[in-house]
Amino acid sequence: MTLSNEDKAIILDSIRDIEDFPKPGIVFKDITTLLNNPEAFSILMNHLAARYRSYDLDYIAGIDARGFIFGAALAQMLGIGFVPIRKKGKLPYTTVSEKYSLEYGFDEVEVHLDAFHEREGARVLMIDDLIATGGTAYAAANLVDKTGANCVEACFILGLDFLDGQKKLQKITNVYTIIGID
Ligand code: AMP
Repeated sequence: MTLSNEDKAIILDSIRDIEDFPKPGIVFKDITTLLNNPEAFSILMNHLAARYRSYDLDYIAGIDARGFIFGAALAQMLGIGFVPIRKKGKLPYTTVSEKYSLEYGFDEVEVHLDAFHEREGARVLMIDDLIATGGTAYAAANLVDKTGANCVEACFILGLDFLDGQKKLQKITNVYTIIGID
């Protein structure tokens, strides 16, 4: 299930580039303008629902924070549960966590211990707005597997193809990126 080039262009055109945010040299892909565009948002969500209807998923896991928006909408469309994967210290119940390296230092993602309680090996689709270096998604996919669930695919609206994030993530799960950016 792929999107037409015309529909991809509508989605891409709805995303705003902000130069030098949050620091000099970074072009930030601002998806608030996609959320604000009913035509682009509905093309995107209908495509995701059509693709994942046949995957026999038990849960959608969204990565903090923009993955929550797309993930929760998709879970509702598919009639399955949504699970937030959060940055350290935000979840109130017992958590499982996974550390990952940043340029300087490290960060940590967490999920509730019982989040994928439906069954052992629950089929999980992970989603975020964008994959850059892949550090966050790699840790999040490992985290899903650590709880006893199975991350069957990781989905991104945008992928920065000039970084090696997708290649790295492909070693541990399937990766679906709707639009690659050179
Ligand atoms: P990474 O771990 O390097 O793959 O970074 C992925 C996370 O950082 C995702 O949650 C993205 O939303 C965010 N991110 C990284 N680079 C950008 C960018 N250029 N524009 C928007 N978000 C970004």
